[in-house]
Amino acid sequence: MKIVEDYPPNYEEICKHFKIRNNKYVVFTYGDTLYNPGGGHIAEDLKAHEQVHMQQQQTLGASQWWQIYLADPKFRLVQEVQAYRRQYNFSKIYPRSNRRKLLRSISQDLSGPMYGNIVNYQTAKDLIENRRALDD
Ligand SMILES: [Zn+2]
Repeated sequence: MKIVEDYPPNYEEICKHFKIRNNKYVVFTYGDTLYNPGGGHIAEDLKAHEQVHMQQQQTLGASQWWQIYLADPKFRLVQEVQAYRRQYNFSKIYPRSNRRKLLRSISQDLSGPMYGNIVNYQTAKDLIENRRALDD
């Protein structure tokens, strides 16, 4: 996976759907490249998350994947839950308190405005911890 400090090719399209313009902390995967326009440090658990998106995009092609991802909240939820589960699993190597903090933070992200408030906080947390199946 390549990492570049630049905007993804479909940045304008993404900005039409989500309020992420000028958010330095957001990164994007498009094809085999991780775009990090803010240039911040990328934690290993976040790389694990983005690697899932890279794999997901291989099946459909990056352009097609992004079009469905932006248009269809259900598809988006499935893609993100897969990625967040991998990220949370990765964090098993972290101290317990860091892992709990990460779970809180990614549950907030998954249930928040960045993804269009697709689920509430508790559901997001249950999904990430694999206590709840995706099709419940
Ligand atoms: Zn994601």
